Amino acid sequence: MPAEPVSLATPYRTHTNGELRADDAGTRAKLAGWVHRRRDYGKLIFIDLRDRHGITQVVIDAADAPEAHATASRLRSEYVVAFEGEVARRQPGTENARLPTGDVELQARTVTILNEAKTPPFYLNDPDATIDESLRLKYRYLDIRREAMQRRLLLRSRLVQAIREVHHANGFVEVETPNLIKSTPEGARDFIVPSRLQPGAVYALPQSPQQLKQLLMVAGIDRYFQIARCFRDEDLRGDRQPEFTQLDLEMSFVDEAAVMAFVERMVIEVTRATVPDRPIRETPFPVFTYAQAMERFGSDKPDLRFAMELVDLAPALEGGSGFRVFDETLANGGRVKAIAAPGMAAATRRETDDLTEYARRHGAKGLVHLAVEAGGDLHGPIAKFLSPELQARLVSASGAGEGDLLLIVADTAGVTNDVLGRLRQELGNRLGLADPNELAYCWVHEFPMYQWDADGHRWDATHNPFSGVLPDDEALLTTNAGSLDDRSPDDPAGKARAMQYDIALNGWELGGGSVRIWNPDLLARSFNLQGYTRDQMEERFGAMLEAFQYGAPPHGGIALGIDRWAALLSHQTNIREVMAFPKTQSGTDPMLEAPSAPEPEQYEELGLRFVGVPGRA
Ligand code: ASP
Repeated sequence: MPAEPVSLATPYRTHTNGELRADDAGTRAKLAGWVHRRRDYGKLIFIDLRDRHGITQVVIDAADAPEAHATASRLRSEYVVAFEGEVARRQPGTENARLPTGDVELQARTVTILNEAKTPPFYLNDPDATIDESLRLKYRYLDIRREAMQRRLLLRSRLVQAIREVHHANGFVEVETPNLIKSTPEGARDFIVPSRLQPGAVYALPQSPQQLKQLLMVAGIDRYFQIARCFRDEDLRGDRQPEFTQLDLEMSFVDEAAVMAFVERMVIEVTRATVPDRPIRETPFPVFTYAQAMERFGSDKPDLRFAMELVDLAPALEGGSGFRVFDETLANGGRVKAIAAPGMAAATRRETDDLTEYARRHGAKGLVHLAVEAGGDLHGPIAKFLSPELQARLVSASGAGEGDLLLIVADTAGVTNDVLGRLRQELGNRLGLADPNELAYCWVHEFPMYQWDADGHRWDATHNPFSGVLPDDEALLTTNAGSLDDRSPDDPAGKARAMQYDIALNGWELGGGSVRIWNPDLLARSFNLQGYTRDQMEERFGAMLEAFQYGAPPHGGIALGIDRWAALLSHQTNIREVMAFPKTQSGTDPMLEAPSAPEPEQYEELGLRFVGVPGRA
């Protein structure tokens, strides 16, 4: 039997501000909290008293409690105050149906001011106020008093709790890994911490616990998870922060299907526990290969809440279209593809110019737009080059209907898919095609193992350097020259697919993972293709290479971005909204004023010298 939880009552309060109900009328109560709103009618003063649990109305009547009334007349917004008095039903007609406590009020006998407060720099009691974000971050402790922030942090707490419960119920062990480690590359710069005891040496903060969790598999932990803080020094965006939180997990004796099956179940259970009212669009989650996702959605994190898929126009254009750009693109091995934007046929010149500019900004040479008019005729700058039969074929191939706007890109496969994929997402958002409540999870797998790095003359891992190769493609981990040190862009390795799977949610990459290479020789081979010499391998991944010689089980795992997950579950597009104390776009904390110059003695202790920064040598 679980013990009764400790009561929320304290010496300052018998109830929280979210607790009193009509049944409590006639009892005595003590309440404490912040002054949310104060209305002064002379003899009667009304205070909306707030804490995290809710709001309760307190009334102070000069006739009943003259001393309390005198104190209450000094109260201002955000004062911290305690009241004591009798719970009463509100006058009929004055109940507040929007508050759970709205049937009652506390008729205060005594008022104690526990702390005064300066006038806050922004209103805390107006949910619709737009407040400058830098002000919100500087006074985050006030910002968090606002209901919307409280709601989001509570959701995040529920999310993490559900994650823990599901993992514990499935035989996972929560293990903490250190933050002062050696570089674990995940494609970003490291944050480094100078060591005092080892002058001239630095720790790196983990970009992820990747190597450590794999070592935990060698250590026989079998199923590991952690709510892990990760640090990546890269440029900030709405879905990126220099430090962020991952649900990191790893499992032994698994293949791809086993990891995906557990993660999918976990994600469903966690979603249902955290946001029971939000529908999951489709289970089992749809699974696409990377190639399919790029072909159909132009994205490896497709938003499946709406269709507007990319269509290949090549079959319709067969035999020549009479429009040079299309014909030459196809002749040169490029692609001509389209999306049909519903109801956008009436787009103004300015709107289509805007879309063309957007396509150019993302690397396309241009964007063809054709409005589908009544009877299926196409209208647009290039319509005159296209015969009526071809127009009919294009309309039927693209599945466009009357009133739609066909947007066509003719370019290399990469550019065509990427640009149309971005346009699809952008227009999906603009046109409100997605049901905002729906949660559309999906899997994307069979990613290319490597991509060619022309500068480094090597095969960079597309995800992390430890990902395994699909068994069918193992023989491809080689070069044309035979020597792994002699790499070139058309090596067989470029065709190898990884045992890598990403999970996407509503157009965001929620997480990614892989079954790892657990054979030390194959691992060394893959590192070699990635451009590491033997010495560099030893220097960077020595512990791992050595550990794998002591019996590494087959293993694989994944990491999911908790900030992203919490943001999407709370209808946010910026992860700062679900982080208590995030950094600004320029990586600063305006509240604590971090980062800041070290103390002079820290320079000495750490043997540090800043070169070229005035005043910090
Ligand atoms: N370490 C990877 C990442 O941070 C996740 C994984 O492969 O488990 O993206």
